[in-house]
Amino acid sequence: MKTVRTVRDLRAALSTQRSAGASVALVPTMGALHDGHLELARRARAENDVVVMSVFVNPAQFDDPADLAAYPREEAADAELAVGVGVDLLFAPPAEEVYPPGFSAWVQLDGPIVLSLEGAQRGVGHFRGVTTVVTKLLGMAAPHRAYFGAKDAQQARVVRALVADLNIDTEIVTVPTVREPDGLAMSSRNRRLDPAERARAVGLFAALRRAQQMTSGGERRAEVILVEAGRILAEHRIAPEYLALVDADTFLPAGTVGARSALLLVAAQIGDTRLIDNVRLEAPPSVR
Ligand code: AMP
Repeated sequence: MKTVRTVRDLRAALSTQRSAGASVALVPTMGALHDGHLELARRARAENDVVVMSVFVNPAQFDDPADLAAYPREEAADAELAVGVGVDLLFAPPAEEVYPPGFSAWVQLDGPIVLSLEGAQRGVGHFRGVTTVVTKLLGMAAPHRAYFGAKDAQQARVVRALVADLNIDTEIVTVPTVREPDGLAMSSRNRRLDPAERARAVGLFAALRRAQQMTSGGERRAEVILVEAGRILAEHRIAPEYLALVDADTFLPAGTVGARSALLLVAAQIGDTRLIDNVRLEAPPSVR
């Protein structure tokens, strides 16, 4: 595996294989890799000839300077993990390579998919930072496919809207959430939890799993599902920033779980660490 730090070196490293017709995959990450990231890379490895992983802590998507400063950075360990899953090229640019002085080409979507939930909590700058850096990374690597995690469901939806609206010729692949054995969604932020916080954090998935059990048992009413999921969060002393059932396509509130797929999403601060998670809810065919 080769590590490159400039767009010029990235393009040079890809050019021979690209002109020989090789398919190129991009796995964008902010580093501090865990098995969730590696699952994206494994999937990319299985489906493409060349796998590029980017490791870039994107300052533009952080609403909170303290969160940006505290974000874990572990490039040497990341490189070893990336080699292990067959990444060919690690693209780890410095901030000035991505945002040189005078940078002003912000890419910003509009509508409920960017304004609701994460957009409302973290401010419009968050998804503007995401869509700007993803547009740039797709421009830099020009991948055939790019891989995103279902753990950041709203981000994955936003990226799909971005490539559709801007006619970017990259297929977006969403990979299911990888969880710890007790259900906690893997996240680079989990390592900031102390043991007591780590124990409370299982309440996030416990609440979501209960909602899945209710819908597979035939419950369709959003208000009933939300009350029960909220009760399980409270049992774990979690006061959510949001707990919401939305249409998976529009991100508008869903009143019922029906044939159209719905997402139940939660965000909460556990101590000083902000965590998010979600599950898809579908009514069983018999009650649709
Ligand atoms: P991040 O480094 O947090 O920006 O995440 C980089 C990519 O990995 C994003 O597409 C995330 O959705 C994805 N990802 C993060 N955690 C997980 C997980 N537990 N399972 C699957 N994908 C994940």
